[in-house]
Amino acid sequence: MKRISILGSTGSIGTQSTEVADKHGFAISAISAGSNIDMLEAQARKYKPEYVCVFNEEYYSRLKENLRDTSAKVLTGMDGLCTIAAAKNCDILLNSVVGMVGLLPTLTAIDAGTDVALANKETLVAGGTLVTEAAKKKNVKIYPVDSEHSAIFQCLQGNKREQLSKIILTASGGPFFGRTTEQLRNVTVAQALNHPNWSMGSKITIDSATLMNKGLEFIEAKWLFDLKPEQIEIVVHRQSVVHSAVEYNDCSVIAQMGVPDMKIPIQYALLYPDRVECPTNHLSLTDYGTLTFEKPDYDTFKCLSAAIKAIKLAGAYPCLVNSANEEAVALFLKEKISFLEIGEIVSSVLDKFPFTQINNYEDIAKADKAAREYVKNIVK
Ligand code: MG
Repeated sequence: MKRISILGSTGSIGTQSTEVADKHGFAISAISAGSNIDMLEAQARKYKPEYVCVFNEEYYSRLKENLRDTSAKVLTGMDGLCTIAAAKNCDILLNSVVGMVGLLPTLTAIDAGTDVALANKETLVAGGTLVTEAAKKKNVKIYPVDSEHSAIFQCLQGNKREQLSKIILTASGGPFFGRTTEQLRNVTVAQALNHPNWSMGSKITIDSATLMNKGLEFIEAKWLFDLKPEQIEIVVHRQSVVHSAVEYNDCSVIAQMGVPDMKIPIQYALLYPDRVECPTNHLSLTDYGTLTFEKPDYDTFKCLSAAIKAIKLAGAYPCLVNSANEEAVALFLKEKISFLEIGEIVSSVLDKFPFTQINNYEDIAKADKAAREYVKNIVK
């Protein structure tokens, strides 16, 4: 029986992962949530994990009290996430927390020699060098959960990596595809949260609307598949049926397709290399009829160009744009800044900060803090 630990078990990816676990009879060794202690308690009673962690320390004593009749060890904060990540009680750690918070637990799991199913893209954006080097050193596998990266990973199976020429990273385009800057000026939070194809948490949904999500995925792909930025082409594909593709030296392009349902990539990451029945719909190409592919608008969607520029500049820039984006999205959700200001803030980081090198986790933490303070200072 496979044992999995899930960081972010009450979120969209987390709950779908428990469904995959249910279907395949996996044991769940640990679960964690940001602050949703009611769902966390229900999951703890159903799966009887060894560890239950609520990241937000405010909820710790209440959760501990609520679970006092169980044998679960109740944890909190970053120490709690890292205790779970370091534990030898699981075969794979599914990391689906939101944001930079996921980086230290990922590094901890790698250090413990535990394979990671990664649904936390900020981990690779902020700490790409550290994570990939550590994984190589410890011979730990990182299985992508993000649908595009799972697609690329699937298209690589059975082919020679050194014969890959480039990847085609597809983007749905989000709810505002085709709009001009002027038309985006008065976008509301509710409009930005209304994604056409995917149902996800609020942070990633806003990132999809600004196309920052694709920028983060560009960086994620660079690290996961050891690519040069020039080897990554972003294509807007409104239907979200082709989840991404790989081109080889002979000009053959292999794509992975399916209905837009995260259960497929989650299951592939957790059951790799097996392909078994998945509780989702069959893809009917004739129902779709037409699949479309277009170029993204890099001028209007400033976050996308900023993220790509950041990875080309390297050093701390990817971490800086990511952290600035996390702060800006939080401010937008609280209606403190406009939709367009997210892109302006994220791009401004590239001019405001000098180049710095990333050599260790402390360098990342320092850049993260500096970017957050910078955003807080310009928005008062
Ligand atoms: Mg994705």
